[in-house]
Amino acid sequence: MYTVTIDRDKCEGCSECVDNCPASILEMVDGKADVTGNLEDCLGCESCVSVCPSGAVTVAES
Ligand code: SF4
Ligand code: SF4
Repeated sequence: MYTVTIDRDKCEGCSECVDNCPASILEMVDGKADVTGNLEDCLGCESCVSVCPSGAVTVAES
C-alpha cells in the first residue's frame, strides 16, 4: 500500500496529476489536487509525482 501526499500550499492547480493517475484516485477540490479515492487502489506508479510542475506530490510505500 502507498501513501500519497499532496502539499496544497505547493499545488498550482494544473490538474496534471488528476489527469494522469491510472487509478483515478485524485480529484480537484477547490482548485487544488486531493486524494479522494481509495489509497488501496494506488499502483505506486508515481505518474502524479512525475507530471507535477511544483513538486507538490509525494508517494511513499507504507
Ligand atoms: S502513484 Fe500512480 S496510481 Fe498512485 S496516485 Fe500517483 S498516479 Fe495515481
Ligand atoms: S500536478 Fe501538482 S500542481 Fe498540478 S494539480 Fe497536481 S499537485 Fe497540483
